[in-house]
Amino acid sequence: MTHQPTVAGVPVSGEHWIGGRRVGGTGRFTDVSPIDETPVAEISRGTAADVDAAVEAARTAFASWSRTSREERASLLHAIADGVEKRLEDLAIVETTDNGALLRSHRRGVMPRVAHNFRFFANWLVDELDHPDFDTRGHRNHVSWDPAGVCALVTPWNAPLMLATWKIAPALAAGNTVVLKPAEWTPLTASLFADIAAEAGLPDGVFNVVQGYGAEAGAALVAHPGVRRISFTGSVPTARTIAAAAAPNLVPTSFELGGKSPLVVFADADLDLAVDLAVEQYDNAGQVCLAAVRLLVEESVVDEFRARFLARAAKLRQGDPRDETTDLGPQVHRRQHEKIDGFVRRAVEAGAEPLLGGGPNTELGGLYYRPTLLAGAAEGSEILTEEVFGPVLTLQTFRDEEDAVRLANSTRFGLAATLVTGDESRAERVSSRLVAGTVWVNCFFVRDLRAPFGGSRESGIGREGGTWSFDFYCDVKNSVFAP
Ligand code: NAD
Repeated sequence: MTHQPTVAGVPVSGEHWIGGRRVGGTGRFTDVSPIDETPVAEISRGTAADVDAAVEAARTAFASWSRTSREERASLLHAIADGVEKRLEDLAIVETTDNGALLRSHRRGVMPRVAHNFRFFANWLVDELDHPDFDTRGHRNHVSWDPAGVCALVTPWNAPLMLATWKIAPALAAGNTVVLKPAEWTPLTASLFADIAAEAGLPDGVFNVVQGYGAEAGAALVAHPGVRRISFTGSVPTARTIAAAAAPNLVPTSFELGGKSPLVVFADADLDLAVDLAVEQYDNAGQVCLAAVRLLVEESVVDEFRARFLARAAKLRQGDPRDETTDLGPQVHRRQHEKIDGFVRRAVEAGAEPLLGGGPNTELGGLYYRPTLLAGAAEGSEILTEEVFGPVLTLQTFRDEEDAVRLANSTRFGLAATLVTGDESRAERVSSRLVAGTVWVNCFFVRDLRAPFGGSRESGIGREGGTWSFDFYCDVKNSVFAP
């Protein structure tokens, strides 16, 4: 590939980015837009040899990058954030073309957050990271955060650049070098980002991208003996494979995985707020790991809740994600669309009743799946316990607080939970009993990079955010100085 192809009018390379240059590799695959299932770009299909080259480039670059001062690294991270802000419109339209999420969300929410990820970790590195020295019988203890080495980052397709930069920013801030393997369904903004980082002055080899399939490029990367950290966001089965690959090299892993989070509505709740929060769970066509997809509503208010929810959900507009008035775009890929439909069909066959949607949007065709609400599924059934990762919510009722906690905690996941209640003491009591990395009370998706983020049970291993991120991406050292 010698010419630079364009996607939605923006020049984007489909090649790897290794050691500061474009590398085509041998094989190719076609990237398809979920908006209309048309091909958008030819992408290099990474092999073990491409991964070797990228890890080698990252190892070479580590020698000098790891010795730069905190201030130098912070200033480069700010320059990258400036570059992201300058190319925001390009990033937004390319991401929408690639994964089908709303253009208006990319413009106003997601891409500004990408820039913020870099500014936040740059500032944290300079202003917040240090632990005060302390004394042991006259000896001074000094804690430092040393860079760990080459970090392998493996990321999913549902918020591709946002989730990747939530790892890239702290890894680079810590003085590490990076090899990123983006999801094969959404390879494009990682490639654009490589251009932005290079233009910002990031030295060659500090950031590398190997495109390709999980079972090929991804598997080679996480098993590579030159890697010193693996940070992965994706599904539980892939996490198991990666954990096994990391074991022989004893490489620390950070896992942000799936969820089946509850939204618990007590009878004392503001029902309008509860309904708004419930309808918000269709955002990104339901492809959000944190989505509170299990609506658990106290028996005495369920009729009122259901009526208001259906009236509100009927106003959702499904369509082209580039249109400003669209609320719900397509699913990311045909395979995902079919998987979601399989879950819904099996649930209905097993006795669940679709109160809303329940199948593909036949008017729009393609990958558009109607927002769906299922009621009456049996406790413990597939639809109430497995992650669907689409616009499919379920409705269950509970009798009292004890019953609510029992149902909320009844899956093998523990990513997040949302409570809606007008009673502050109930909010404290219930949130303390929920198994979840994040609990939101009377709100949803309020995120602060200073807060720990991660999942309990099968939703993940480790926490990221603020110093938690540096703890993962660094070899934390204690030096003891005699008096
Ligand atoms: P996935 O596990 O199929 O793929 C994720 C990434 O792993 C892709 O880049 C893929 O190519 C790669 N991969 C696949 N097999 C691999 C292997 N053997 N070795 C190395 N890499 C491999 O997940 P997905 O379908 O892309 O993403 C959806 C999942 O991600 C959902 O479960 C969702 O809940 C989860 N997710 C979690 C969070 C979080 O923060 N907890 C955020 C977003 C998504």
